[in-house]
Formats: sequence, C-alpha cells, structure tokens
Amino acid sequence: MAAREQMHAYETGAASSREAFEQAAAVMPGGPKGAYYFAPFPLYFERGEGARLQDLDGSTYLDCANHHTSQVLGHSHPAVRDAVDAQLNRGIVLGGPTGAETALARELCDRVESLDRVRFCNSGTEATLHAVRLARAASGKSLIAKFEGGYHGSHDAVEISVAPPVDQAGDPGAPSAVAGVAGQSPSATEEILVLPYDDVDAATRLIETHADRLACILLDPKTGILASPSELAGAVSETAARCGVLLIVDEVVAFRLGRGGWQEQAGITPDLTTYGKLVGGGFPIGAFGGRADLMDRLDMTRGASGSHQSGTFSAHPVAMAAGLATLQALTPDAFGHLDALGGRLEQGLASMNSARESGFSWVVSGSLFSLYFADQPPRGYRDLAMCRRESNGRLFHHLLKRGYYLSHSLGMNALSLPMTMADVDGLVDAIDQGLEALRAE
Ligand code: PLP
Repeated sequence: MAAREQMHAYETGAASSREAFEQAAAVMPGGPKGAYYFAPFPLYFERGEGARLQDLDGSTYLDCANHHTSQVLGHSHPAVRDAVDAQLNRGIVLGGPTGAETALARELCDRVESLDRVRFCNSGTEATLHAVRLARAASGKSLIAKFEGGYHGSHDAVEISVAPPVDQAGDPGAPSAVAGVAGQSPSATEEILVLPYDDVDAATRLIETHADRLACILLDPKTGILASPSELAGAVSETAARCGVLLIVDEVVAFRLGRGGWQEQAGITPDLTTYGKLVGGGFPIGAFGGRADLMDRLDMTRGASGSHQSGTFSAHPVAMAAGLATLQALTPDAFGHLDALGGRLEQGLASMNSARESGFSWVVSGSLFSLYFADQPPRGYRDLAMCRRESNGRLFHHLLKRGYYLSHSLGMNALSLPMTMADVDGLVDAIDQGLEALRAE
C-alpha cells in the first residue's frame, strides 16, 4: 500500500480520533501533549485491558508502547485497581500522610541496595530536579555532567544536548552543550558538561579534568534504546568515586529491568537514583533517593540545612497505592516472563530476512526495545542521529494497521506482563510484513 493510500486508510478507520483531536487542538496547542502527537493526528483511546488497547472507533491493538513504558503490568491490572479502590475509599488526598507513602518507600528501599531513603514527587522531571539540587547543595559545586542524548525531563538544568543537531554538537569525543528548547536560561548551557556515551575513555577523562567543579554526573543508561558499552557503568562509577563527584543514576525507564533495577545488573552503587513511570503504577509519580547522609539534608527534624522538598501532590496516596501494588506484582517470576518475552522478540527479529535486506536493526533490553532503520544498532547519540528516519512513520502506520501500537518514533517501546509468546510472534510477523511492504513500494 503506497504512502498516500496508507494515510487515507488511517484517516477513514480512525475518524473519531480525528474529530477528538480537532476538538482538542482548538483549546490545547497541537493537542494535550507533545509526545502524543503523530501525523496526521494521534489515536484516541476508549479503554485498555491487559495487553490491549481499544481506540474510539473500536479497533484494538497490542499495546507495545505501554504509556511511555510505565504500564509494565499492562492495563487495568486487578491488583492495582483493588489497591486504588481501597485507597479511594479512604478519601483522595487528606492533607497529611496516610502511610501509603511509607509502604512504597519501604518497598523501594528493600529492593534497591543503594537506597537508604527516598522522597516522592510527581514526575521524573521533578525527581532529577531535586536530585541535582541535592547534589549541588551537598558538594558545594555547580557544574553537572550528563551524557549526550540522555533525557532527564524538562527543566533547564538537564534539558541540554538531548537531541542536538549534529552540526551544532561539536567534537563527538567532547560534545558541545546545546540547549534543548527555546526559552531556557542562557546560563543553562554554561553549567553543564556533556559526555559522550559511546566513548568511555573520553567520558572518564572529561570527568577527571573537570572534577573540581563537578557536583554530579547524571547517567541515563538508555536501556532498550542504545546498545550500551558494557564497561560504561563501572568506569563512570569508579571515576566518579575516585574524583569525589556524586553519581546520580536515572532509572525512570531502566527500573523495568529487574527487582533492583539497572544498577543491580550493572553492579554499581550510585549516590542518588531517580525514578518515575512504573513506580506510580500508572499514576503521576517521581521519586529520588540514595545515601542517608545526602537525603538527610531534607530532614527538617534535624534542623534547616538549606535544602527542602515538598509539593502539593507529592506522595499522592493513590499513586503510592498503585505503585506499591505494581511493585508487589513484579516478582522474580514476573521479571522472568518479561525477560523471556524480550528474548523471544530478539530471536524473532534476528531471524527475519527482511531486516537484513532493509538495513534494519534493534536494541532489546529485558522488556524494553527500540527499532531502527540503520545497519547496526546505535551505540551512542551520534549513531542515533544518523539512523534513517524517513521510513519510521511508514512502518509505524503499517504496524497500527495490523493491530500493533508502538511508540511512533519506534524508540522506547515496552512489552508487558500479560503478553504471551504468541503476542510477540505476532509482533515480529507484523514487523516482517511491514518491512517487506516498504521494500515493495
Ligand atoms: N528520565 C528519563 C530517563 C526519562 O525517560 C524521562 C521521561 O521519559 C524522564 C526522566 C522524565 O520523566 P517525566 O516524563 O515523568 O517527567
């Protein structure tokens, strides 16, 4: 099916979504949020159950995006619904703690060795904001380091060199700091050191050179997005410790990998860690935590230390209850199943002739995966920027037509617990057929 026919079929089959989008765009610029949009208009959903979504026109999809990876248990998991109902029966927010936050904090601290204490907020963005502030306050230094291509949310300190135009990004071994969006403080790019993700020697040298000004290094492992160099975690962690620089690992996405998250698998113990997404069981959440001596700067019972963290809806009881029910469902068996689904996907993709012939590649880590039109899976931001993107939208629409909903960039997709091996086989078939169809055009 040629591009124009494909779009026509989408517009006809999803007429109710178009109407809903037009109504939305009249009162919200381009609809409710940037990440939902894909051309010509995003799908609007009626409901989600288990591994599947239903759109306003009644079409169903295997959900391989899972709300930006957060719905690890799929949709409407009975244990999460029960926990939410039970919490709602006590009221929604009560103007004081309810104990639901203690239960979730305890669960996180039990799971992750580096967490002595945690605090909750409302998003991954807030989590990295507070972690960076804490690191600056504790170290008395202001420069922060982050990896090129790493996303840590939308605040000035970190939304730098997330997806910079390559012609502005400077030397791949010592990248320039490029503001992510218009309107950021001009000083934002002066307070940041950008590290190359796929050149561990260069990254550690930069850390050593700037250590006396560096408060912290923010590391987003890019799990399921980049083919990570295996030595990265150990080298960065060792260099940070040796040079007296705090290490903040961003597990907003990577916590999906296992009980103790990415850091457990990588064998490192960061000073601070940030969380979001699945930790709220589908409700807005962020969390940050780590070493007691750092986190206790927020302890007002010990007197003012100049640090503070609060927020009207921080530690919202409903999000706490949903998050706890989600983590409790993530047993070793559950992670075993998620890993097995990811393994099946990787095997299936590797067996497709169409992939070799189309110069198509992928990264699969646990239950997270990304698809690329590139001969090799990207190892760093510069590789990512070189991927051929012209066909992404076409493959995305092919998959939609066959009943598979992925992230429209084809990056950062996620399998979910209720999926079966047959679901994954179906996805592989659909990708295979989509690639064949693209080649035939
Ligand atoms: N950190 C990482 C690694 C993320 O992927 C994201 C969001 O995708 C964030 C932080 C920001 O989280 P939020 O969208 O909840 O603000």
